[in-house]
Amino acid sequence: MKLKLHTKIFIAIALGIATGYFLKDITPVYIAPFGQIFMRLLKLLVIPIVFTSITLGVYSIGDTKHLGTISSKAFIYFISTGFIATTIGLILVNLIKPGVGSSLSTVGLEKAVKETPSITELFVTIAPQNIFESLSNGEILPVIIFAMLLGTALIKIGEKAKPVVAFFDSMSDAVMQITEWIISLTPIGVFALSANIVATMGLSSLVSVVSYFFTVVLGLVIHAFIVLPIVLSVFGGYSPVAMFRNLLPALAIALPTASSAAALPVTIECLTKKVGVPSKIASFIVSLGTTIDMNGTALYQGVAVMFIAQVYGIHLDLVQQGIIVVTAFLASAGAAAVPGAGLVTMVIILNAVGVPIEGLSLILPVDRLLDSCRTPVNLWSNSIATVVVAKAEGEPLVPHLEGTDEDPFVGISKEEIEMLEKKLERVH
Ligand code: ASP
Repeated sequence: MKLKLHTKIFIAIALGIATGYFLKDITPVYIAPFGQIFMRLLKLLVIPIVFTSITLGVYSIGDTKHLGTISSKAFIYFISTGFIATTIGLILVNLIKPGVGSSLSTVGLEKAVKETPSITELFVTIAPQNIFESLSNGEILPVIIFAMLLGTALIKIGEKAKPVVAFFDSMSDAVMQITEWIISLTPIGVFALSANIVATMGLSSLVSVVSYFFTVVLGLVIHAFIVLPIVLSVFGGYSPVAMFRNLLPALAIALPTASSAAALPVTIECLTKKVGVPSKIASFIVSLGTTIDMNGTALYQGVAVMFIAQVYGIHLDLVQQGIIVVTAFLASAGAAAVPGAGLVTMVIILNAVGVPIEGLSLILPVDRLLDSCRTPVNLWSNSIATVVVAKAEGEPLVPHLEGTDEDPFVGISKEEIEMLEKKLERVH
């Protein structure tokens, strides 16, 4: 029997957890390297995909006015869902108060993070100064800006753009082909990654911050399973259950890798092939949103800052909590889509509301585990953005039949299936 990819991935995760638990000593030495290789291969694709798909996406959107409407709709979605996510986190942390009366001591805490990016620094470094440097350093935001400029310039120069566009077109197909090869290695990669997480994680560290941990998880669950599905149904007209099934392979990669960037290639595949979001919208928005639209990270940062303040006995009033909502959006947007990035940019929020950054070491023990919870939420929100924007643009969703080992028809009606089948018959 041929198993579906996501079934294989979940079996691999379960086997990985068991292996990491029973073979604690050999896992980090002999099994972990396979996970590292898999992560490297996934990361290898990020810059080529972002560069080619944003350039082509902008070019194929055709005119700068249309590009403006797609981007502004995406940004309205990013900002509003980000604000809602952080607000949910803040409401829960105010109700549960995980840090009040905590036995955690703040005496003698070491500085957890040495490099503290300020908001201005963040803005300045987004401007590209040397595209080759940005490409080779994997700096996604400057690459996005350059690709948007390039795509817009290609529209402007008309006929002369053809050779460059043809080059990007072939390049994008070739990168997608490599993506498919790497995707087939996913079960091995997630097996090794899950085994290593379990083998190297001390469960005892969880106990001291258990109520903080569950406050974040509860917030993520509410946002991912209630708020975003409502947004998807109401503004995207698409079934959340079907969306979840279609995105399972991508979500299953985000979980053990804790990197939305690593899951980016598979996310685009799932959205274009299974959900049927037009490629120009899916690639463009996912590439853009992977670093900017981080609902899970924003929610977690809001809760974490409040938790640290509670442990220190610092009272943050409503105005300060409003500042947290705004800065959490900026801090999450500024976080790279890699493991632990949200922890580093949280310094921006701590500084903005005057909570000691040394407090970060209080939440360190569970950060990797929480990263595996917030990253799939980032990806989930970002994927929903593509459907919502496609709907707002009046673009129909057309799933592709080729190149997927799974039922591509999840989420579309019987009539639509019949219509597609008729179309295919005509083609053949
Ligand atoms: N790991 C997260 C991501 O890749 C970012 C973070 O919150 O650290 O989406």
